[in-house]
Amino acid sequence: MGTVSNLDPAPEAINLTPGVAPAGGSGGDQGFVPPGRYRAVDVVEARKAAIGDGTEVRRLLPQRTLRTIGAWCFLDHYGPDEVSWGPGMRVPPHPHIGLQTVSWLFQGLALHRDSLGSRQLIRPGELNLMTAGRGITHSEESAAGRPPLLHGLQLWIALPEAERHGEPRFAHHFDLPVVRDGTASVTVAIGEYRGERSPAEVFSPLAGYEVAVPGGDDFVLPVREDFEYGVVAVDGSAVVGGALIAPGLLAHLPAGLSEIQLSPAGGRRVARFFVVGGVPFGERLLMWWNLVARSAEEITRAREDWVAGRFPEVHGYPGRPLAAPPPPPVPLKPR
Ligand code: MN
Repeated sequence: MGTVSNLDPAPEAINLTPGVAPAGGSGGDQGFVPPGRYRAVDVVEARKAAIGDGTEVRRLLPQRTLRTIGAWCFLDHYGPDEVSWGPGMRVPPHPHIGLQTVSWLFQGLALHRDSLGSRQLIRPGELNLMTAGRGITHSEESAAGRPPLLHGLQLWIALPEAERHGEPRFAHHFDLPVVRDGTASVTVAIGEYRGERSPAEVFSPLAGYEVAVPGGDDFVLPVREDFEYGVVAVDGSAVVGGALIAPGLLAHLPAGLSEIQLSPAGGRRVARFFVVGGVPFGERLLMWWNLVARSAEEITRAREDWVAGRFPEVHGYPGRPLAAPPPPPVPLKPR
């Protein structure tokens, strides 16, 4: 069912060079834009990624035309998927390097296990944050007693050079700040909003908010001008910064804005958005499978380490670890 990782059996290597964007796109000029200068919103369409047992996810990052938003380098939106019969979600143990994983649910119940010995249920509104550093293994699965629908996001945050070789860590935050702002509410998963700060430890300037707005209302989200942003409409179509988006689309707003208007379609009691933001990430990245690195040699070595059983183990997962895909061509080429 819905994935919380990259289960693609033949993943492409993705070279993430800062500032790469199509001709005419606004994502290539990531410099500061003077306040008041209007820039159009880029609307990015998800790639439908068929993974694992054939479930489709909406892969919004990375894209050919949009590699990262701040240090956010991977964004899957999945569900709502029916998980009440059969095993439900099953993401077998697999390795990560060089990144943090964020699991965020809108509906449902999942169980995280990792090679540090963590065993943690994930519920909507809670932040599951795993820092891979130089290497970690984890799994996620549907848990007993789950509600029938699973709906959520899987995000990765690239670790900067100074942090990416560090010790793996795991944190789960139940008690995130929720800021009531007029008729809207903003859950601060990552970063800061109106003076309320998430306890989550991240290593570059970032924001991650779930924003709930009553259907038919307009909400103006104040944002940092040095951040670029991405907005997902979680529940249905909405207008973001003047652009119509729906599930399967991502609104990308380049740096330089001081506010983003979020306008859900009417007829719904409440509409939710997920907003990611950050200072444009200046480091080149090389992503392949579940690995974020800087060079083909690092990717190849990490794959070999996984195949040879040199990554730490996850205990208790009811099934075998994920097999590595065939080695990527070396040298890895940008898509
Ligand atoms: Mn994973």
